[in-house]
Amino acid sequence: MDLLLFGIQGSGKGTQAKKLAAEFNYDIFEAGGELRKIAASGSELGQTVKSYIDDGKLVPHPIIMQVVKEAITKRPKDQKILFDGIPRDENQKKDFDAIMQEVGRDFRAIHLLLDPEEGVERILGRAKIEGRADDANEEIIRRRMSTFVEKTMPVIEAYKGQGKVVEVDGRKSVEAVYAALKQAVEGA
Ligand code: AMP
Repeated sequence: MDLLLFGIQGSGKGTQAKKLAAEFNYDIFEAGGELRKIAASGSELGQTVKSYIDDGKLVPHPIIMQVVKEAITKRPKDQKILFDGIPRDENQKKDFDAIMQEVGRDFRAIHLLLDPEEGVERILGRAKIEGRADDANEEIIRRRMSTFVEKTMPVIEAYKGQGKVVEVDGRKSVEAVYAALKQAVEGA
């Protein structure tokens, strides 16, 4: 079964995704990472994608859905996928659910809980280390946080209503969060 990992920026989602993938043999699809690769390509599409990322706004629907659809269909059915950063709004959820149903992939979700203010603090700290332009500017970070609260939270709520979501406290140490995540993955 595939896994969707949700969590506000700074929740430690990326770190935990890598640990889970290594132990449980998931292939990671990281929406932001895939889009950053396209942005770096210098193509016309890349320039469009870059402008949205730099602004802290969701890239247009057809672009991200094309990327995710390709990623899903190119993988063999028996390769489990860990989705990080998709779907991020209700429109994406609608199309994502349809693609997954069409190819016969089932999934559940984990929501890594963290207070937005703590997320902002953590990102401002990590920006110095990783050098991401969209992490260096507090206004852009706050815009990404609002997008999460306004657009992604309703997606999580909808999956919650379908009984697909396990919530994990993201405030603890990397090891403690991972232990809880592992339990959620193994118990499902
Ligand atoms: P992230 O690495 O998850 O923080 O994402 C970085 C940026 O990539 C976001 O601020 C958006 O501009 C873009 N992005 C990532 N995932 C999506 C998505 N599912 N839909 C649209 N844009 C996205």
